[in-house]
Amino acid sequence: MNVYLEVDGKPVPASELTWAHFSPCGCQCGVLVAQSGNFLVPDEESAWKEFYESAAIRKREKARGYTFKLMHHPDAVIALGGKCPHTPQWGVPDESAPEGFAWGKRSKAKKLHLIPFTGDTKRSNFATAPGGYDDRITAKCGESQWSFEVDSWMTSEFLKCEACVTAKEAS
Ligand SMILES: [Zn+2]
Ligand SMILES: [Zn+2]
Repeated sequence: MNVYLEVDGKPVPASELTWAHFSPCGCQCGVLVAQSGNFLVPDEESAWKEFYESAAIRKREKARGYTFKLMHHPDAVIALGGKCPHTPQWGVPDESAPEGFAWGKRSKAKKLHLIPFTGDTKRSNFATAPGGYDDRITAKCGESQWSFEVDSWMTSEFLKCEACVTAKEAS
C-alpha cells in the first residue's frame, strides 16, 4: 500500500513516518507508526483514536494540551526517552495511586475510585473485601462495594472520581 502523507508541505511515504505524541509540558511521551502494512494512521484524529480507545480520555487529554505531530522515523525517536524533567511530570497532575491504594471501578461503572489495595494491579483483576459479600471496600470518597476492578491496563481507559482525587491531595 503506497500512501503519501504531507510533512512540511511535502508528500512523504507514510511507511517512513511516525506520529509523535507530546505532553502538555512539551516532552515527547509516545510514538505511533503512520503505516505498517495495511495499518494506516492517515491523520491526527486517527492517531488520537489509535492511542486512546476511550472518547472521554481523548477529550480530557486534548483539553490538557496533548498533541500529535507527524515526523520522519529517525526524528520521532530522538526525544523519546521516557523521561520528563518538569514538575508536575508530563505537565499533568500526578494521579497515581499512593502506596497501599489502587484506582478501581465497579464492574459496569465508568469512574475510577481510590481504594485500599496492597496487591499488584498488573497481575490482579479484582480487589474484593476480605470479609466476603457482606463486607465492603470503601473508596476515599465514600463509595463502597464488595469488589472493584483494579486491572491497571483496563483502568487506564477510565476517568478518575474527582472526590477521590481531591481526597488524595488532601491526605
Ligand atoms: Zn516534560
Ligand atoms: Zn471516588
